[in-house]
Amino acid sequence: MSECIFCRIISGDVKSNVLHSDDDVFAIEDINPQAPVHFLVIPKKHIPTTIDIGEEDHNIMGLCLSVANRIVSEKGIDTSGFRIVLNSGSDAGQSIHHLHFHVMGGRPMKWPPG
Ligand code: AMP
Ligand code: ZN
Repeated sequence: MSECIFCRIISGDVKSNVLHSDDDVFAIEDINPQAPVHFLVIPKKHIPTTIDIGEEDHNIMGLCLSVANRIVSEKGIDTSGFRIVLNSGSDAGQSIHHLHFHVMGGRPMKWPPG
């Protein structure tokens, strides 16, 4: 069994609130939301960080952003604005080493994030 929590969520071993699933991309509600809308878009392929993205993964990255756009529209924050964050490595606070896009909105987002 994989030790990666996101691989286990994608395989269905661990329960989550699923927003989207197709051949390449998975999206779930974040379990500890930092904004009124906070969900995660996750490539099904186990890519640890952005540094590990290969040429063969370029299409998947675009598909992830398309899924993010679709969900922000469904949630009604497409016109008010939203933030997409991809933490990569320990200084960025990445705690789960399976690449994922945080999508947050529903309130004004501070910048810089700190
Ligand atoms: P990061 O720190 O960028 O790696 O983000 C990991 C995110 O995953 C955090 O926002 C967590 O709240 C979220 N998270 C951790 N475990 C789960 C889970 N089982 N279901 C949904 N989100 C989770
Ligand atoms: Zn994984």
